[in-house]
Amino acid sequence: MQLKSFTFNPFMENTYVLFDETKKAVVIDPGCHNKQERGELFDFIQSQGLVPVKLLNTHCHIDHVLGNAFIQNSYDIPLWYHKDEDPILKSVPAYAPNYGFPHFQESSADHFIADGEIIKFGNQQLKAILVPGHSPGHLVFYHEASKICIGGDTLFQGSIGRTDLPGGDADTLLNAIKERLFALPNDVVVFPGHGPETTIGVEKITNPFVGKNARF
Ligand SMILES: [Zn+2]
Ligand SMILES: [Zn+2]
Repeated sequence: MQLKSFTFNPFMENTYVLFDETKKAVVIDPGCHNKQERGELFDFIQSQGLVPVKLLNTHCHIDHVLGNAFIQNSYDIPLWYHKDEDPILKSVPAYAPNYGFPHFQESSADHFIADGEIIKFGNQQLKAILVPGHSPGHLVFYHEASKICIGGDTLFQGSIGRTDLPGGDADTLLNAIKERLFALPNDVVVFPGHGPETTIGVEKITNPFVGKNARF
């Protein structure tokens, strides 16, 4: 499996395209918000000859869904996310103009992903793991064969997702990271929703919020 990342929109959100030798691809959290960013994503998919088959959201805060409608309109593929993110996505149009996105286009789920569900594309399998707390239905997508985890806004290099947004809860996030993410092997590489990748093993030791010597 191959992974391509983009960093989009003023929130510096990481958008991921996963694909394999069959050229089938999934797009995760498309944050592209203007013509240039949409073009960058579209051109990559085109240049690689990829065929997107699913659009996945780890969670539905505005920075992760700005390009949902663009991807759905471009490729006519279903949007999948956890059902507890539905009210989060439904609330975006009301606040999008205040965040500087007056032309936000709505999108909605074609399928609700369950905790533990296996998501297939090409010859690949992703396991959806519920890691709530940053938002209520936040999923991470784990590719066991290559030990890669698309982490969204759960665990960052040296940090964790904020919990002061609607539906967020600090204790829930701390417990979910420790019980669910830290159950993955130490050498799993986490590709987060913001900033550079890290590994489970490194964060278990050094993360100031959830590591061995957590300070907060
Ligand atoms: Zn978020
Ligand atoms: Zn984010």
